[in-house]
Amino acid sequence: MAQVGFIGLGNMGGGMARNILKAGHSLKVFDLNDQVVSEICAEGAVAATSATDAATDVDAVITMLPAGKHVKSVYLGDGGLIAVARSGTVMMDCSTIDVDSAREVVAAATDAGMRMVDAPVSGGVAAAAAGTLTFMVGGAEEAFAAAKPYLDDMGANIIHAGKAGSGQAAKICNNMMLGIQMISVAEAFVLAEKLGLEAEKLFNISSKASGQCWSLTSYCPVPGPVPTSPANNDYKAGFAAAMMLKDLRLAQEAASSAGAETPLGKMSRDLYEKFAAESADDMDFSGIINMLRD
Ligand code: NAD
Repeated sequence: MAQVGFIGLGNMGGGMARNILKAGHSLKVFDLNDQVVSEICAEGAVAATSATDAATDVDAVITMLPAGKHVKSVYLGDGGLIAVARSGTVMMDCSTIDVDSAREVVAAATDAGMRMVDAPVSGGVAAAAAGTLTFMVGGAEEAFAAAKPYLDDMGANIIHAGKAGSGQAAKICNNMMLGIQMISVAEAFVLAEKLGLEAEKLFNISSKASGQCWSLTSYCPVPGPVPTSPANNDYKAGFAAAMMLKDLRLAQEAASSAGAETPLGKMSRDLYEKFAAESADDMDFSGIINMLRD
């Protein structure tokens, strides 16, 4: 079994790190929040004194941090992980960050002799705890092969998307589809209401017709048709509107840096900008139907 360092034990990282422990690895952990560190240390992890300490003398390092600036500050520079880890260490950044930062960090790690991938996830907090995440992985074949056993401990689907940054590219393209889809399903239910068509009837028809999509059949934004959707729980996240906004902003940054036209992606970003600004922190992204109705 391996020695693993884990940095970032928040909503997602906490569950993921526990699955590394359950798989039998030795785990050194670090987070700026002492509370989450002591909780997992009571279950068998060892507390590191810093992020660099967590990456010292280990076989693999996993990070699950909020955004690109956190990832760059933890990995790069004289005080960063890359400077202290031993050559050949497997590095996996599972945070959702911008493609350019992901490429920069993987390139720096590779130049220093590490085997690094960007490996953002789909699946949310429940899948992180259950070990059933989907990982979208970017990086060289050899780095992917080295990372896969650890990702297998935390996920159900591990997909190699291509060269460095491709994991992040897949994540933001997928979530741009999701944001656009959710708005389109919500608009259709609002229009149906105004036309006197019952929500349940629209659901039964569209889930068997060409309007069918995940936002309708797995995450319906009106209460009733899909019992597990946040619409039945006062729109409590689930997947927070602020998280959707973060991903739609990343998609727009990537589109402008790559010269891609994504007019609906841009409009979705603008609508989620407005919705997140007027919503509680724990508002689910499907709650945007209430803003569209009003
Ligand atoms: P979170 O805010 O709950 O956790 C982030 C953790 O990182 C916190 O515990 C924080 O203290 C720690 N941290 C921040 N800077 C640090 C540093 N310099 N050193 C050590 N620790 C530091 O966030 P989360 O919900 O766990 O999300 C993490 C990442 O996963 C994000 O990039 C997010 O977009 C992505 N993601 C989240 C979900 C979800 O449903 N929550 C789903 C898919 C992807």
